[in-house]
This record gives sequence, structure tokens and C-alpha cells, in this order.
Amino acid sequence: MGAAALAWCDRVSPATAADFAMLEDALARHRPTPVPDRHALVAGVPTGFKTSYAYRLLHSSGCGPPLHDLNWDTFVPVRVKVFIWFLRHRRTRTRARLCRLGILQSSDCPFCPGVAEDVDHLFVNCPRLLRIWRCASADPRAGSHRTVEDLVDAFSDAHLGWPLTLCMTTTTLLLWITWKTRNRMVFDGANITTAEFFTSVRDHLTLWLVRAPHRIDCAPLVAWCASLSPLTP
Ligand SMILES: [Zn+2]
Repeated sequence: MGAAALAWCDRVSPATAADFAMLEDALARHRPTPVPDRHALVAGVPTGFKTSYAYRLLHSSGCGPPLHDLNWDTFVPVRVKVFIWFLRHRRTRTRARLCRLGILQSSDCPFCPGVAEDVDHLFVNCPRLLRIWRCASADPRAGSHRTVEDLVDAFSDAHLGWPLTLCMTTTTLLLWITWKTRNRMVFDGANITTAEFFTSVRDHLTLWLVRAPHRIDCAPLVAWCASLSPLTP
């Protein structure tokens, strides 16, 4: 293994070569012993090592990427998690991104001429969404959110009594339906009303609830979903 790695040494990048030198130096100072290795984190956990300990330590440091819980503390289908991962990393195929990649000529939102359709506009600030967010979050500030992060925070603030998993799943559900609705409007020429949007939310939730862990009481989410109405002020 070591000999094979050395054979590749002159073909790696300078950064990889530096990593390799550091690893080689560390291994040169290591003296194997007949007793089993002990693994432990420097901080956070007194004994032993598990991947979950490293995960918790990283998470508690506040250094993780934004919207971490939105991606991992939910019971949504895998393809929706992939969608959220792209969204968190600003890789969703909005018109602004496709224009930046040279695929489209214009970055304009299909519904707002002259305004670039980036992630925050598509999911939060597009005027066609204001009524939906106002009804869904019962948040009078709806319309003043500027980023997806603001929106997620506002929804969590409006549902403080809910388990985090429920909050994150619900926000993910709304973002997912927003994305699907936008695509139907853009590619199929469909005219989706707020009432139809909420019907789609309810239909998806019915399917997703089957995936919910038994330890989580989903009653608040079911009640919230049943209360969704385009007539909510
Ligand atoms: Zn728009």
C-alpha cells in the first residue's frame, strides 16, 4: 500500500503532497504496540469514540453549514433531502444559476421581469409566494424575510412548542412544494392557486407521515396541515 502510494506521489497536487508528507511524518513517529488502539475526541466526550460524538461536537460548535437541521433532522424522502442539500449549498437550478453557467441568456424570474431568480427569490421573496407564506406560517412578518435561513427561523419561532424534527420537516415540505409548484407553472404553464398549493402540501404530508419515527408526536403537524387555508389572514 505504502509503496503503491509512493509511486503516485509525483502525480498528486501540491496540497495532497503536503498532506502525504504530514501523514508520513506522523507514521514515522508512531510505534505500534500489541494492545488495541484507543480512540477518543480531544473535547466533548470523556471516553470512547463514535461517529455520532464527532457529529455532535461539530454541530455544537456552530461551525456547520447553514440549515443543517433542515437537511438531517427530518423524516422526508431521500430525494427531498437531496433537494434540500442542493438548496443549502445554493446549487438549486434557479434561472440565476443557469444563467451564470451559460445555459440561459437571462436570469430573470419567470414571474418578475427584471428580478434575478436566485434561491432566496425563488423560495422566499417572489411576490407570488407572499400569500402562501403568510397563510402557512401565520407570521405577520411574512414578506419581510430575505433569505431561506430567515424563513426557517421564522417558522421555528412561530412553532416553538413543536419538536425540532416536526419544524424542519414542515419547512422542508413547504420548500419542496414551492419548488414543484414553480416547475409546474414554468414548464407546464399551470396556474396553481394557493388552495391547490395547500392541497398538495396535505397530500404529501399524508405520505410522509408514514416515515415519521414513532417517538415523535405528529399531532401538531397534522392539525396545522388541516388548518391550512388560503383564507387565513
Ligand atoms: Zn419572482
